[in-house]
Amino acid sequence: MPEVEGEHQKEYLNMPKKTMPKSGMDAKKLLSEMEKRKAQDVDWKHGRMFSLIYNAGPEIEEVGQKAFSLYIMENGLGPFAFPSLKNFENETIAMVASMLGGDEKAAGNLTSGGSESILMSVKAARDYYRDKHPEITQPELVMPDTAHPGWDKAGHYLGIKSVHYPVNDEFEADLDALKKVITPNTIMMIASAPTYPHGVVDPIDEMGKIAQEKNIWLHVDACLGGFILPFVNKITKNIPPFDLSVPGVNSISADIHKYGFAPKGVSTVIYRNANLRRYQFFATADWPGGVYATTAVAGARNGGAIAAAWAIINHLGEEGYLKLSRQALEAAERLKQGVNKIEHLKVLGNPKATIFAIGSDKLNIFEFAERMKTRHWYLENQHLPPSIHITVSPYHAKLVDEFLGDLKDTAAEVAKLDAKDVSQMAAMYGMIGNMPDRKTAKEMALNFLSDIYKL
Ligand SMILES: *Cc1c(COP(=O)(O)O)cnc(C)c1O
Repeated sequence: MPEVEGEHQKEYLNMPKKTMPKSGMDAKKLLSEMEKRKAQDVDWKHGRMFSLIYNAGPEIEEVGQKAFSLYIMENGLGPFAFPSLKNFENETIAMVASMLGGDEKAAGNLTSGGSESILMSVKAARDYYRDKHPEITQPELVMPDTAHPGWDKAGHYLGIKSVHYPVNDEFEADLDALKKVITPNTIMMIASAPTYPHGVVDPIDEMGKIAQEKNIWLHVDACLGGFILPFVNKITKNIPPFDLSVPGVNSISADIHKYGFAPKGVSTVIYRNANLRRYQFFATADWPGGVYATTAVAGARNGGAIAAAWAIINHLGEEGYLKLSRQALEAAERLKQGVNKIEHLKVLGNPKATIFAIGSDKLNIFEFAERMKTRHWYLENQHLPPSIHITVSPYHAKLVDEFLGDLKDTAAEVAKLDAKDVSQMAAMYGMIGNMPDRKTAKEMALNFLSDIYKL
């Protein structure tokens, strides 16, 4: 069984107390207080960050906002009370399924995000094998090291052992390593299209063959790429087959709140057919409150997220997505070429779309990221190997030259530093990445959560 998280948690005494205000604050004052607090956050609207936000500009944001507001109080839990939401969901899934190689048998649902889509696919695979292969009592989920942590989390939540294997020099799943970790207990394998850390697509064709041969459920994690790879491929024709059209792929996930450009809170999980999807569901007929059945983790669901997803897909259509994808792709190509021309910096692996990582053979990349902050660029650190994450949005097209200029100047600046000039922040990141004891690194992360999520 997976180990227990938080077993070494410190005890926090003397937590400051706070109660709700005795009399309420008027709405105007409240909103101005919120605007003030919001001003401390990263200024993503001007595009100076390359993670967390998928920025297609203010016009698309407004469509999302209006559609969301229209359904802000409605509850996706009630398909009979709010059939319009159920229909938005069904239409959205059908459109995404066709985009991702599904045929008329494909079936899926909306979830709150990639992590929930992942969790549901693991639940479906687990229950499918429980039903068809009860002889497997210790199921295993195999994934390359680059698979999203949501997969480990799903294994952790659902009592399935997750087994990692290494990637090759191009950061793609290593097929020989995969074959070595498969056992009679393996029920599921994961491929990413593309991976979050390096933006590369795993060899899904070959993985599909292995999945069929060994009777293993293959899921494609296209949470990040589901709404960009199909359009990039229309432009470049160089994305290998990655979706439900590949034999052996049983399910796929694609986040509408990433390159679908919807507000946060909406993803899709789609199965080859409705029989497979049925293992995702939960129902009970014995509750005094009535028969209760849900498609995914959530009970009540904000209608806003469902409505906004449907609205944005219909507002953009194929042409809209193609245009935005072209914009992001052109920016990404210019950025990748520009980075490779800067002394000491390089793009890791061979990412073909709009996500990539910047690494260095010489520079302390974390110090580099810290110094980019002084130029008002908010960059996310990655480790193993140390790098900076870049997810390119259409909006970034305007910033390519400025960003490349700052990368170049900062690289020259950091190249001149001695080890002792490295800031505390950069040293700490480096230390966590290099700590041989990964358990302690993990404990630090758990303690960190306890530290920041308190008053
Ligand atoms: C973002 C992402 C996820 C998780 O999605 P959330 O919406 O953050 O829960 C899963 N897989 C990949 C490849 C991702 O990029």
